[in-house]
Amino acid sequence: MRSVGKKKDRTHPAPDQPDQAVGSAVSGKGLWRLGDNGGAHFRSEAEADAWLREHLGEEFVERRRRSRELLRDPQALDEADAAVLRAALAPVLHDLAATGMPLPEIREEAREAREWAVCGWIAGPGMFGQGINVMRNSPPAEQVRQLAEQFQNWAADVLVEARREPVWPVCQEHRVVQGLEAETRDDDQFAVWVCMSCDRVIAPIGELRKGTRSRPVGGG
Ligand SMILES: [Zn+2]
Repeated sequence: MRSVGKKKDRTHPAPDQPDQAVGSAVSGKGLWRLGDNGGAHFRSEAEADAWLREHLGEEFVERRRRSRELLRDPQALDEADAAVLRAALAPVLHDLAATGMPLPEIREEAREAREWAVCGWIAGPGMFGQGINVMRNSPPAEQVRQLAEQFQNWAADVLVEARREPVWPVCQEHRVVQGLEAETRDDDQFAVWVCMSCDRVIAPIGELRKGTRSRPVGGG
């Protein structure tokens, strides 16, 4: 899969499944609000479930219930899934470290019910915990690309906190901060960092070298 020209949301991971958007239903004055679903209000979790069942189906409601459970009581990954996650994480963590970024704590546990994905959880430093995942059926290089993209969003949040340009990683060829895009090449055989501005592959993901550091805001 390629993501040429795809604009990413640098402030927050986009909710790629509707259950993320509605998973945070909060009760204000005894009302349940559905995040991005048109502002519908419900008097109870059961009423919300009934509405969701009608509009999105039983399977969705069941997954939402299971996700709530997992959030309270995360499930440790089995060894096969943990190995998939570790393999996809290694190159991305290498590149974070090589560019002077902090590393989050990695938890090999699922807090979301997504049978089509291998889920993990990252936390800290100084950040809210959040889920990461790779598609179970994707080739390994594509899984690396998926995680790289998720960590770009995470890194952007870290950099904002540090009052730096929320762009990671950056291309060293430019005076202005130019971010790199995570892509795959040769039929998903290789995951690479690409500069859209230079129009070239800068490095395989996992092989960024020291010196590709993020820059302070206003730096050149
Ligand atoms: Zn460039």
